Amino acid sequence: MKHNIQVHPTKNPRLPNVDVNNVPFGKAYSDHMFMAEFKDGAWQDPRIVPFGDLSLSPANLALHYGQSIFEGMKASKDAEGTPLLFRMDAHITRLNNSAKRMDMPEFPAELFYEAIRQLVNIDHGWIPDSPSSLYIRPLMFALDPYIGVRSSTTYQFLIFTGPVSSYYTKPVKLITAQHFIRAAKGGVGAAKTAGNYAATLYPMKLAYEQGYDQIMWMSPDFKYIQECGTMNLFFVIGDTIITPANSNKTILGGITKDCFLTILRDAGHKVEERDLSIDEVVNAYHKGELKDVFGSGTAAVVAAISEITYKDLTMVIPPLETRKTSIFLKEELTAIRAGERPDKFNWIEKLKVKKHVTT
Ligand SMILES: *Cc1c(COP(=O)(O)O)cnc(C)c1O
Repeated sequence: MKHNIQVHPTKNPRLPNVDVNNVPFGKAYSDHMFMAEFKDGAWQDPRIVPFGDLSLSPANLALHYGQSIFEGMKASKDAEGTPLLFRMDAHITRLNNSAKRMDMPEFPAELFYEAIRQLVNIDHGWIPDSPSSLYIRPLMFALDPYIGVRSSTTYQFLIFTGPVSSYYTKPVKLITAQHFIRAAKGGVGAAKTAGNYAATLYPMKLAYEQGYDQIMWMSPDFKYIQECGTMNLFFVIGDTIITPANSNKTILGGITKDCFLTILRDAGHKVEERDLSIDEVVNAYHKGELKDVFGSGTAAVVAAISEITYKDLTMVIPPLETRKTSIFLKEELTAIRAGERPDKFNWIEKLKVKKHVTT
């Protein structure tokens, strides 16, 4: 399928003045972005333009009522400098699932993928050396200026990118939620939608003030573990690797989590995706069977959890160097993403860099 994406290259590229291997996290944006608008029942005018500010009506529905969704994925470079796109199809599907839940139009998958290819192609000079990578941020939001609560009839779709460093995270201290919840059955916890993150900011501030890095979100009865921050969680109890199931659609279904489940099962590990109670984790801890706890997500890949506080108990997780599972997963997935392993799960698309044709 051929899509007619108009390309308007910037006349003032910033790339020559940027060291892409040395930028602060989330603060550098590549020279171009992709845009399209939904109007009269269809997506219109797909185009690549210079990265820049938007102009919005103060009555914009998204600003008031939060009809807004996003994604986050990465492109990296292999040893030859070929751009590698990682699991774009899974991210495209997930954005469209978020769209459905928020009563927004889906973005055609083929056009979405082609937009990513062309955008990464035109800005391939912004991809840092592995293990750093180019972060890709698609988003969609309501565009109607209207002050009543209803679904918008027009939408903005955008993709922009920016280099991110390999993100060394210091081990994370978690506090188990006791008052606030992130998501409940029937809600929007499984959608990557703006309000989910806004709702966590105040509880997170209270957690920081008490010396914790992240909140471990729990089911509304505070018995079952959901996830933390923008990461899914894995627990190694004895020789079994357990991650909370998403049966109530309260957890954001991570693509990194899916990668880890796939890699672990393929390597013959004992893996369970099921409901996991805090009581079970506390019991395992007291018996000395809690070997490893880590978060999974696109940004950090693996984030080691150093401590989990639950009521009066602080569970100290064993030293990092003993954590076979998280060390193995971080190495494997980083190597797969950098094209240093055979792509046996079909997760990589190698991008053939083309000189763009000005249209
Ligand atoms: C994005 C996200 C994740 C991780 O998803 P990945 O696809 O692995 O990056 C986990 N939890 C929340 C709440 C998220 O927004």
